[in-house]
Amino acid sequence: QLSPAIEAARSLIRTIPDYPKQGVQFRDITPLMADAQALRDCVEALIEPFSGRFDLVAGVEARGFLLAGSAAMVAGVGLAPLRKAGKLPRPAASVNYDLEYGTATIEASEDIIPGMRVLLLDDVLATGGTLAAGRALIEKMGAEVAGTAVLMELEGLGGRTLVPEVHALFSM
Ligand code: AMP
Repeated sequence: QLSPAIEAARSLIRTIPDYPKQGVQFRDITPLMADAQALRDCVEALIEPFSGRFDLVAGVEARGFLLAGSAAMVAGVGLAPLRKAGKLPRPAASVNYDLEYGTATIEASEDIIPGMRVLLLDDVLATGGTLAAGRALIEKMGAEVAGTAVLMELEGLGGRTLVPEVHALFSM
């Protein structure tokens, strides 16, 4: 049972069939991000379960950055980007993970400090590979994962197997 605010935000998701390839239903969050009320409602709902229990938010490149930026300001904490390989001038740690075809790497800068409690954000939980890698990267930095939160969880892709304790505002 979703709250009216989250139901309204969910209704703004734009589904693009067969993008970026045949058979994928791409869940485009840009209409939600462009709506001031939906953006605020979602950011507040993402952080609410973890209130007072995190010192930093981390967002996964690229759409996680949008949520992390907003959430950090609302929560009154700083933020750290988890970036694709080769984008940070001086990465402090990296984690490799499997994609459907091939592998990917994400990196963090030294600003994630050992002992920090970090709330990890992204837009979509699909197979969970990205968020599992994000969690591993935060832990590799010696920090603690305070929680993992996403706007939506895609059904039938098994994301909960890799990331069992994710706070998802809605599913699609
Ligand atoms: P995964 O690692 O499989 O959980 O994939 C999650 C990442 O891929 C997230 O950063 C999403 O932004 C993106 N993603 C995967 N599937 C979709 C989809 N159907 N629509 C939009 N984004 C997706």
